[in-house]
Amino acid sequence: MDELRYDGRVAVISGAGRGLGRDYALLLARRGAKVVVNDNGSAILGEGEDEGPAQQVVNEIRDAGGEAVASTDSVATPEGAAAIIDAAIRHFGRIDILVHNAGNVRYGALDEISIEDFHSVLDVHLMGAFYLVRASFPHMKAQDYGRVVLTSSIGGFYGNKRCVNYSVSKSGMIGLSNVIALEGEAHNIRSNLILPGAMTRMADGLDTSQYPPLGPELVAPMVGWLAHEDCELSGEALVAIGGRMARIDILETEGVFQPEWTVEQVAARMDEIGDPATLKNLGLNGYLVHLGSSFEMAKAEREKLAAQG
Ligand code: NAD
Repeated sequence: MDELRYDGRVAVISGAGRGLGRDYALLLARRGAKVVVNDNGSAILGEGEDEGPAQQVVNEIRDAGGEAVASTDSVATPEGAAAIIDAAIRHFGRIDILVHNAGNVRYGALDEISIEDFHSVLDVHLMGAFYLVRASFPHMKAQDYGRVVLTSSIGGFYGNKRCVNYSVSKSGMIGLSNVIALEGEAHNIRSNLILPGAMTRMADGLDTSQYPPLGPELVAPMVGWLAHEDCELSGEALVAIGGRMARIDILETEGVFQPEWTVEQVAARMDEIGDPATLKNLGLNGYLVHLGSSFEMAKAEREKLAAQG
């Protein structure tokens, strides 16, 4: 296969001053993309600002012969996100690729976490994603092209203790990415989720002595593929961790029909209702497929009952 390149493409990568985002920025720039390296340089809790990390990655890209500009606005406000997208338009004239990767972490059990800590994580991860998408989508629509990669997490799909703010943010990405995929479909805009796993400062304080190698460079190729024009996937969730690549999906059972139900009947038929053998992924148009098949089942079963008298 020929090398997959991004010549002529402009990418905005949030949180690209460190960790995973830095590797994404270096990879895309190495292969011809012009990159807006966004990072406000905040500490892991999301506090403070530092222009250093974004500028350092820009310097690395330029030293290697690539093109990049630094943006140190925060993704956590509509104004900040608009300024980040505006940097792409001002410096490079367009935006083709949006990778929302910026993140902070604040731990706390459900009965302890402060409202401020809940909002702080939602603001950077989920609201940040929406603000960036809201600012870039009109440009992508107008040019009939876009590739969006939002960062989810296994914490968003499976949940994780003491991380309700993070889990809620990362599962919120599922709905956001699917809406982008649906509304962007006719405009050649594709949107997917990356569920990464890598050793970054987010692992500070964990005992990682028994972990296999978990470099960000083992995640970046998946993001690179999702950001490429040849990639037609949309509304999918891809995993990359320690060399393992996989796909995570939403599944629905076929279900069973009765014209009326009691609580006891639900209890008695739970095995059939949840029968794993009938689990199916309904695809990008799952919303309509779900309604259609529910209505079809109800109609067909009612007609059958009516015919039986
Ligand atoms: P990291 O802390 O190394 O990098 C995150 C970067 O985001 C930092 O450089 C930080 O300055 C920047 N940032 C924070 N708030 C910002 C804001 N308001 N505006 C702009 N930039 C901001 O962390 P990482 O491990 O590289 O994580 C990157 C993404 O991957 C995050 O969304 C994280 O939740 C997700 N993730 C990471 C892992 C993992 O194993 N490392 C697992 C699942 C998900």
